[in-house]
Amino acid sequence: MKNHARKESMNSVKNSTHSFDRLWMPFTYYRDTLDYPPLVIKQGSGIYIYDKEGRSYIDCIGSWWVSIFGHNNPQITSALRDQLDRLEHVMMAGMVSEPALNLSHLLAELLPKELSRIFYSDNGSTAVEIALKIALQYHALRGSNRSEFVSFDGGYHGDTLGAMSVGMVPQYHSLFHDRFKKHHFAHSPYCYRCPACQNPSSCNADCMDSLEKILELRHEHIAACIFEPMVQGAAGMRIYPAKVLSRIFSICKKYDILTIADEVAMGFGRTGTMFACDNAGEIPDIMCLAKGLTGGYLPMAVTVVKETVFDEFRGDYTTERILNHGHTFTGNPLASSAACAALGLLKQYNIPSSLKKICKILAEELEKFREFEIVGDIRSIGMIGAIELVKDPKTKEKLPAELRIPFKIAQKALDFGLLIRPLGNVIYFMPPYIITAEQMKNMLFLTHCAFKEVIHDELSNLR
Ligand SMILES: *Cc1c(COP(=O)(O)O)cnc(C)c1O
Repeated sequence: MKNHARKESMNSVKNSTHSFDRLWMPFTYYRDTLDYPPLVIKQGSGIYIYDKEGRSYIDCIGSWWVSIFGHNNPQITSALRDQLDRLEHVMMAGMVSEPALNLSHLLAELLPKELSRIFYSDNGSTAVEIALKIALQYHALRGSNRSEFVSFDGGYHGDTLGAMSVGMVPQYHSLFHDRFKKHHFAHSPYCYRCPACQNPSSCNADCMDSLEKILELRHEHIAACIFEPMVQGAAGMRIYPAKVLSRIFSICKKYDILTIADEVAMGFGRTGTMFACDNAGEIPDIMCLAKGLTGGYLPMAVTVVKETVFDEFRGDYTTERILNHGHTFTGNPLASSAACAALGLLKQYNIPSSLKKICKILAEELEKFREFEIVGDIRSIGMIGAIELVKDPKTKEKLPAELRIPFKIAQKALDFGLLIRPLGNVIYFMPPYIITAEQMKNMLFLTHCAFKEVIHDELSNLR
């Protein structure tokens, strides 16, 4: 194996223009980059991307959930072009670019009015880091030394150290959790494998007893509770009922704990409401937004706080009331102009109301996957659909990992012209909002074909 890998890499150095041997791919086994070389993508248009041979693929997952208005969207592209002719960047301290200023007003129009202060950064993980820092400093400014956080099993908040410290998807986080201070984790609201042994009809949000227990014991030390509202995305699109989200808010209120809603993935209409917290009619103290913000054009994120939180940070140079945080590219005008255009499209297309019909088609078409003997759960909310694969739906026993069935389905899907990327044993869809009814049906039909072929090939290994 070792020799083989070395030989492979020596060969590719010689032939370097077409080799991948300078790239370290995220979330990817090295061996897989040799056996299944990455596609080289040259172009995009709407829901499609095109490789350098001209083959097209439906981007079923909006390129990691960012492409909400499709690739190469004419309006966003043109806004960006205009901005390119004006100003590429200017620092944001003592000055602010026009697009960054405009964006703050467009965002304020969209957000609940209580969430009134907007802090820019570059990516979702960083938006979370900022939220955590704000919560810690908020308490310090009020004279209390709260240094702990509470979050959830199955939670994902990004890959930087602070964001990882409040995340709990074992394959991403376990190694690192052992190496820095641990926070508190309540149960995952994972309905398919309910930690409180309930089912959707008997659900009383009992899974959140675990949160209540933690707060009962530690509330005086806890700076904030951070959660993904409605859907734990990276853990495998674990969709949970609004009553569970309501209970998270009410328990936090009872113990006077700041709430941080990580809407990085679910904000801007994905769950069928503008923000996922709207499903429970709740407003968090702090909200993080990123992925869809620029329509997938440029990295940008925001951390938004209630004015009551910001009030603690109103000070002059004789005080410590200053958030000493910033990034070189904070409020970048190009990213801001793309974001302004994307928010314009949300309004123009009347998102999320106009999505109702297409969301329904997604949910209905997914039901056709029940016929497969390895489909354990089918779940959907808004423009997200997910299929959880198991060895045996009766026992919910997990698929043998070594068979790599989800991976094989994704590889097969490429042959059918689909870009999907499983999360563990979950195959999911998060297409751009502009997908038509026909394209949606076609996407699920082709996925169905990929399922059929892989399951047919693997059946003898499974039984
Ligand atoms: C993707 C994601 C993040 C991290 O965002 P990056 O831009 O990848 O750093 C944080 N929280 C949630 C809920 C996410 O889905």
